[in-house]
Amino acid sequence: MQETKPVIILLGPQGSGKGTQGKRLAQKLDLPYLETGQLLRDEIASGSELGNRFASIINSGWHLEDEDINAFMKDTIHQTLVQFGGFALDGFPRSIGQADASDSVALPSHVILIDIPDEESIRRLSARRQCSVDGKIYNMITNPPKQGEVCDECGAKLIQRADDTKEGIQKRLDWYHKDTKPLIERYAKQGVLHRIDGTPSIQEVEKSVDKIFS
Ligand SMILES: [Zn+2]
Repeated sequence: MQETKPVIILLGPQGSGKGTQGKRLAQKLDLPYLETGQLLRDEIASGSELGNRFASIINSGWHLEDEDINAFMKDTIHQTLVQFGGFALDGFPRSIGQADASDSVALPSHVILIDIPDEESIRRLSARRQCSVDGKIYNMITNPPKQGEVCDECGAKLIQRADDTKEGIQKRLDWYHKDTKPLIERYAKQGVLHRIDGTPSIQEVEKSVDKIFS
């Protein structure tokens, strides 16, 4: 008999640290970590027909509709499930239509919402800096470079991304809330939602996440 592995979906606003927590959790539970943005970038880099279609949609404004992404993600989830028996999934689903798609392949055993208030998202994202040469991401609050505002790797100047203004961040948060609220309600009804306060330190949040599985 094969042991049943968890099927985990991570939710949370930008700056909540859900990526960091998701990666750590997946490693501890010996699960593959599916980061949707990276999967899309990999597909685009492969030069496949689908990848080219993603690229043209994304280049025109970074918003994939359900019909663009659902078949690709269902396929990915299915293959991962067959190969590994479980996974931790970040960045999908982002709508009820997408949740229908992922549920049709695998019902989540745990949905972990790492929650922080909008003000905290804005505070953290305003502190985000990017290397002007190699694109490495830093955060002056949570992940500062070793010295000043220069890249640890290459010594180049760190810059703030143009869309990391207070207004830009708030606009993305408004979209996030609109998209995510129905998902939160859905997973609460399914009895699989775990809401974690993402405000404390990475280590504190990690302890709260670990408790779900202990
Ligand atoms: Zn650099």
